[in-house]
Amino acid sequence: MVFCFREFFNRYNIIAPYQSCGYYVEPMTKGSDVSRHSRGEGNSSLIYPVIARRSGGLSLGINLFPDSKTCSFNCPYCEVLPFSSTVEFSPEKLEAQMEQFFHHDREEPGAVQLPLRDICISGNGEPTLSPWLGEVLEICSQARMKYPEALKAKLVLITNSTGFLDPGIVDLLHTWQRNAGLSIWAKLDAGTPEWFALMSGSEFSLPGMCEAISDFSRKEPVVIQTMLCALGENFPGQAEAEAYADRLNAMIACGAAIDAVDFYTIARPCVSDEAKPISASSIIDFMDTVQLRLAKPISLKGFDSRGQIGKAMRGGTASHD
Ligand code: SF4
Repeated sequence: MVFCFREFFNRYNIIAPYQSCGYYVEPMTKGSDVSRHSRGEGNSSLIYPVIARRSGGLSLGINLFPDSKTCSFNCPYCEVLPFSSTVEFSPEKLEAQMEQFFHHDREEPGAVQLPLRDICISGNGEPTLSPWLGEVLEICSQARMKYPEALKAKLVLITNSTGFLDPGIVDLLHTWQRNAGLSIWAKLDAGTPEWFALMSGSEFSLPGMCEAISDFSRKEPVVIQTMLCALGENFPGQAEAEAYADRLNAMIACGAAIDAVDFYTIARPCVSDEAKPISASSIIDFMDTVQLRLAKPISLKGFDSRGQIGKAMRGGTASHD
């Protein structure tokens, strides 16, 4: 029998360090599985430890919507499937669940001790829509002082960028960026209005969203998050990549501070059967087009459904950073 490493890695859900067609996929931590992203029984846990590609390992998700999905977008690739529960969010519950996680679960003999990369405010929807956002930021920030392990973890908020349209949210986020090193991961999935409408499932305008991201990041930087996936017969090709690069160029010309861009694809079941992941080589093609067209260098990273993609180079390897 011939031993196949790729089959071995697939069977045990380990991201394979294999190289093919001019790229390779970075191995994530042994035994990790990015396909599991449960938010607890009935999706209603307020915290959910997961292995996250873009975090580079263990991430503690914070869920502000344990009762039902709450979002201003309706992305076809969204992994929050419809659900409802009677669990309500409360700051006290969040503190209790964090205490349980850091003082009990993490210290249990036999618990997998991966280093915690970040505490990530995300969960079942758009966190800037929650009336508890300020309290949640405070609790997460205090957790980083209270639990030694959390101190080393980044504090991240993932937003679909619609919160940047609200001056109160903008002030709140800027304050936490300045005072607690909050990192903002802001969604921008498209370069053309047509693709943006399909990807967001919303009536927000793409120019309006780009302007909001630019206005926000003129004061404090953002990391852009861009989903690349197929929707039925449509997928983001060369023309979309060029339009996307032009949007970034226009935003930078307006003074936007964009620290980096993460391109990623679908890794878990999502709301629409039409939405499918695209291959690592398609992600690289998109990134190459963007990189060549950018007026100013930005760190670009790509992630397929298994992990981070790097490009194979003559005489060695180099990532897309
Ligand atoms: S913005 Fe996020 S939570 Fe909202 S629909 Fe899109 S993927 Fe889902």
